[in-house]
Amino acid sequence: MATRDDIFAWLKCYRQTLSENKDYLTRLDSAIGDADHGANMDRGFAAVMDKLPSVADKDIGAIFKAIGMTLVSTVGGAGGPLYGTWFMRAGMALDGKTEVTADDWLAAFQAGLAGVQQRGKATPGEKTMVDAMTPACAAMQASLASGADMATALEAAAAAAEQGMKDTIPMLATKGRASYLGERSIGHQDPGATSSAMLFRCAADKLGNV
Ligand code: ADP
Ligand code: MG
Repeated sequence: MATRDDIFAWLKCYRQTLSENKDYLTRLDSAIGDADHGANMDRGFAAVMDKLPSVADKDIGAIFKAIGMTLVSTVGGAGGPLYGTWFMRAGMALDGKTEVTADDWLAAFQAGLAGVQQRGKATPGEKTMVDAMTPACAAMQASLASGADMATALEAAAAAAEQGMKDTIPMLATKGRASYLGERSIGHQDPGATSSAMLFRCAADKLGNV
């Protein structure tokens, strides 16, 4: 079961990963977007880390909702509102909880993905963050259904998200800024799928063995 402290460790890991990969994410976004995804995510999660102390005594659902609202209000463009929606929807699935089980995580990740899809209207195969989140949820669900523990299931989710991220390379973008490039979007890895894979990687590393 994950507690608030574990979740804070996850978010700290993600904030650190984003700060280390800011230039990488921006480079990916410069190929098929407007070269701001690294800066957007870095700014957003710096604001999230500043916000956390003020919500540290709240339940986990409320913490997630506060993170989502912080992202929506500090990050412009497509990425901020979409990640904001992911955290707000995941937070609704974790409403009132002070500890989170593997099944709770799966429900939260699925709710987050559903929110992103509802807001952004992307389906798998359109070269977006949905292409990392969808296989991550599916792999986690299959893993838990086969009786795996939280560490194994989160590792399966992280590996599937990383594969999904790589699978965006040959895709033609049909949503978001990258879609403006048409065929020229082919051959580039999607920045949002990359930052999503990092989120699941930190979850596996920080929430797996708790
Ligand atoms: P912007 O595109 O406004 O500059 P960012 O650069 O922060 O915003 O984020 C770009 C990422 O957002 C893309 O790589 C893609 O993964 C994701 N994205 C864009 N549009 C959508 C959408 N409609 N649905 C899901 N994800 C999307
Ligand atoms: Mg951008």
